[in-house]
Amino acid sequence: MNVYLVGPRGSGKTTVGRALAGLLCWPFIDQDDLVAADAGMSIADIFASSGEPGFRRLESAVLARLADLSGRVVATGGGVVLSPQNRSLMKRSGFVVHLDAPPTLLAERVAHDPSSARSRPPLSGAPGLLAEMQSVCAERSPLYEDARHLVLSAGSPPGDIAAAVAAALRERGLL
Ligand code: ADP
Ligand code: MG
Repeated sequence: MNVYLVGPRGSGKTTVGRALAGLLCWPFIDQDDLVAADAGMSIADIFASSGEPGFRRLESAVLARLADLSGRVVATGGGVVLSPQNRSLMKRSGFVVHLDAPPTLLAERVAHDPSSARSRPPLSGAPGLLAEMQSVCAERSPLYEDARHLVLSAGSPPGDIAAAVAAALRERGLL
């Protein structure tokens, strides 16, 4: 049984995932890092050379491998819920936690996150980013809802969110 953190970019999957892995003493896995390692190139280069469909295929293949493992905290790719197969695979092989945040908070975080500067064109200003986050949230909200076992507010401190996930696992007898 793995824990899968799902949510849009900026919702804190990586940050909360690391905190939760520390709390549970489980290994932490960032799915995007595995996809990039498999392809031997950055996510941006995969999109450039194979397009989004190529990236989604690699992402699903990585998820299938992760689903065979157990006791991992997985920060999933933000779009992993787009595929119904991915959603049911996560549900069957783990506990799926949705980090829910309003588009304004996501845009603010991504705009101020130095690590996202590399993958984001520098000319994309705050208003463009907010519109993008609004459309991503509108498209994916029902999919996150379908995929999740638990939803938590992504606006709380990372340690509090991690503690709430651990408590939910214990409550359900999953730890
Ligand atoms: P994701 O992996 O979902 O894209 P990250 O974990 O990379 O999100 O977080 C994006 C940015 O938001 C980072 O700068 C991170 O420090 C910040 N952040 C993440 N979670 C929280 C939180 N719960 N409270 C405050 N800031 C956060
Ligand atoms: Mg991340």
